[in-house]
Amino acid sequence: MEFAPGIHDLSQAMGGHVHAYLIVDGDGLTLIDTLYDTTGQRVLDVIQGMGRQPTDVQRIVLTHAHRSHLGGLAALKKATGATVHAHSWEADIISGERKAQPRISALIPMRPVRTYWRIYYLQVGMALGVGKHPPCPVDRTLADGDQVGPLQVLHTPGHSPGHLAFWWPERRTLFAGDAIATWPEFAPGWPAFNLNERQHRASLQRLAELDAEVLAVGHGRPLTEDVAARVRTLVDEG
Ligand SMILES: [Zn+2]
Ligand SMILES: [Zn+2]
Repeated sequence: MEFAPGIHDLSQAMGGHVHAYLIVDGDGLTLIDTLYDTTGQRVLDVIQGMGRQPTDVQRIVLTHAHRSHLGGLAALKKATGATVHAHSWEADIISGERKAQPRISALIPMRPVRTYWRIYYLQVGMALGVGKHPPCPVDRTLADGDQVGPLQVLHTPGHSPGHLAFWWPERRTLFAGDAIATWPEFAPGWPAFNLNERQHRASLQRLAELDAEVLAVGHGRPLTEDVAARVRTLVDEG
C-alpha cells in the first residue's frame, strides 16, 4: 500500500482500475483524487489503518472531473472537512453545475480490443455524457505553477481542458492523473478519452522533462523503475 516513503496507493477495480493517492508530509495528509465509490469508505479505511483520523486530511486535490476520480469526493469532504482543490475549468463539473464534455467518437472501441474491452462501459459513459458523481463545491481553484501542500501544480491539458498533474520535487514523484495510464497497458492515457491530442502530446513532453523517479497514475499501478526512460518513450511514440 505504501509503495514509496509517505505515499499510499488506494485502488479499486471499478472505474477502470482507478487509483487515488494519500501522501504524508509533516503532520498533514493530502489526498489526490477520490476513487469511484461514492461512500469514500476505502479511503477512510486506509486512513484508519495508518492510525490517523479523517480530519488529518488537510486537502483533497483533483486531477480532473471524470466520474472515476470523483466518486468519493462529497462523502470525503464531509468526513474530513478538507479543502477541495481543482482547476477552474473542471470546478463547475465537480460542483454539478455542468456536465463533463462528452466525446461521441469515444463510442469507437479502442484497439487492441482484447486489451481495452474492459473499459468500454466507461467509453460509453464518456461518449454520452452520463455517469454522475455526488456533486461537491471546489474551495480553491489551482493554476499552473501553484503550490498545494508539498505539491507543485502542472496544468497538463489534453485529456481534459483543466487536467492537472502534481509534482512532488523532494520525492521526484509525478502524479500524472489520466495523462498516462499503466492499465490495461502502459500508454499515453486512454486514447479515446483524450479530448485534444495536440495539447495532450505537449503535456506529455512536459511530464517527460521532469525526469521523475516515481510515477503514480489514475488508472493502473504506480511505477518505480526506469520511470523517466519509460515516460520518454510515450513522447517518442507521438
Ligand atoms: Zn479521465
Ligand atoms: Zn480516469
